[in-house]
Amino acid sequence: MLHALSFDVEEFFQVANLRGYFDSADWDSVPSRLDIGMEAILSSLEKHDARATFFFLGWVAERRPDLVRRCADAGHEVASHGYGHEFLWDIGRDGLIEELARTEAAVEAAGVPRPVGFRASTFTLTKDTWWAFDVLGERGYLYDSSIHPVRHPTYGVPDFEPGISTVPAAGSEIVEFPVSTFRFAGRNWPFGGGGYFRLLPGRLTRLAVASLERSGHPASIYLHPWEFDEEQPRVPAPAFKRFRHYLNLDRTLPRLEGMLERFRFGSLRDVLVEQGRLAPA
Ligand SMILES: [Zn+2]
Repeated sequence: MLHALSFDVEEFFQVANLRGYFDSADWDSVPSRLDIGMEAILSSLEKHDARATFFFLGWVAERRPDLVRRCADAGHEVASHGYGHEFLWDIGRDGLIEELARTEAAVEAAGVPRPVGFRASTFTLTKDTWWAFDVLGERGYLYDSSIHPVRHPTYGVPDFEPGISTVPAAGSEIVEFPVSTFRFAGRNWPFGGGGYFRLLPGRLTRLAVASLERSGHPASIYLHPWEFDEEQPRVPAPAFKRFRHYLNLDRTLPRLEGMLERFRFGSLRDVLVEQGRLAPA
């Protein structure tokens, strides 16, 4: 069974958790560290002959068309992570339309096909921003991976059915492929990426993926390039934010490699095709 692997392509200074330390007006003056993580990721995927989806911020795609092309040339899927890492409830419907258009233009300017997949910044597609599905449908997107079916103080749709489903959208439908969770004590718990991937022992994450596989469901795991960059500058944030951002950065790559050795991974689109949810490209 093919499982889905994805990377949200953003700089360490664009992460929502560290908002307040890097004003978006100053982003261009912060030295980029994106290549450190991207090199680690791309060479590891090549070594294991695995494919993934790269959800690019339009801000990054405009500045790094070479990186967009490099991902596509290596057989990976290029998808959209919006433009400026804004929360959906802050930008609203018109803001999302504008962000999608800018990112699509940047990807196409890099010589890569227009994205058909979307992931909102910081999983901000919730019950309050459900209109985003109509926007995606109107613009011809085929799938979304913005819902995290967990309880969380700022995001999440805890009663959303984990696994692949479809959501009606503007006269058509969008395939929703959420990040993986596991069911325990009557609740969905996150394990599929980011801080949880670095927090939980690698063995536990592999067990969770194996358990999904046994039940016939592909997993969806996501990470960020900055999670592979141990040497990134430290920000004097409160302890809980530092914990979330800097914990076990040295373990991300070995844990990813442990997963790549044990399971077969492809892009979200590849998995949705294998599962009969999307037609082959
Ligand atoms: Zn992001």
